Amino acid sequence: MQDFLNALVAELKLITQRGKVADYIPQLASVDPAQFGIAVCTPSGDSFTAGDATTLFSIQSISKVFTLTMALGKIGDGLWQHVGREPSGNPFNSIVQLEHEMGKPRNPFINAGAIAVVDAIMMGHEPKECLGEILSFVRYLAKDDSICFDRVVAASEMQHRDRNASLAHFMKAFGRLRHDVDKVLGTYFHQCAIAMNCLQLAQSGLFLASDGIDKTMGQRIVSAQRARRINSLMMMCGHYDGSGEFAFRVGLPGKSGVGGGILAIAPGKASIAVWSPGLDQQGNSLIGTLALERLAQFTGWSVFGQK
Ligand code: GLU
Repeated sequence: MQDFLNALVAELKLITQRGKVADYIPQLASVDPAQFGIAVCTPSGDSFTAGDATTLFSIQSISKVFTLTMALGKIGDGLWQHVGREPSGNPFNSIVQLEHEMGKPRNPFINAGAIAVVDAIMMGHEPKECLGEILSFVRYLAKDDSICFDRVVAASEMQHRDRNASLAHFMKAFGRLRHDVDKVLGTYFHQCAIAMNCLQLAQSGLFLASDGIDKTMGQRIVSAQRARRINSLMMMCGHYDGSGEFAFRVGLPGKSGVGGGILAIAPGKASIAVWSPGLDQQGNSLIGTLALERLAQFTGWSVFGQK
């Protein structure tokens, strides 16, 4: 595996078309698109890294996997009254579908859905308490207490919040949000602004690779059924309107973020994180997707069949 990852990094370095970095906030627009990192962690405790695997980046929408897990832990299947489970086929920040479905977001991974999930997690608590809980959960999964919010990114998201604020107000108008819109948005922007590296991220996904148990810690995080369901949502909705393409090319559940990271799960085999900041037209990491496609070909990992 290590030799393969080293060769992959060397190969991907030669590619000049690296996509376009997210530019809706200056902090993401200034990231160097030449970077690429990968980490592969196995349930038995092995980890392999290559490239910029220990460089911190903004996990953005990948955080939605962790908040979804928390929300299901808190309110169980009641969550599905607030958010659906269908692929949206729309861009990550689209408002169109909300109008047709009484303000109920299609799934927990589009922005509107993730905002509804945060509202569900808050349960009357202040943003600070809720953020403390989110950070503790991510640190616990990653086995790393150094993980923090990038406050500059969070502040910038808040400053440029018009699009997400319109989604939140639209849902509130349908009675879908219970808390103050600015408090929900502040919490959502901080969760998106968590900074992690590939190794920390791959560690955090291990429970999804082993039916809900992080075997390296010997801890059950969620039930087997819940882990499978989270994986199914990642497969169907984890790459917005590029989810079908990702399933076709990579064949594994994955969740991307506009910071250029992707967390992918090979059930029973590994939790994988890749990062390269340049994005394709759907807002998913261009080189990161290619790397996962190559890894899946090399290992034969796929939820659609066995090598
Ligand atoms: N913070 C981003 C937003 O809300 C997250 C989007 C993403 O990573 O896909 O616009």
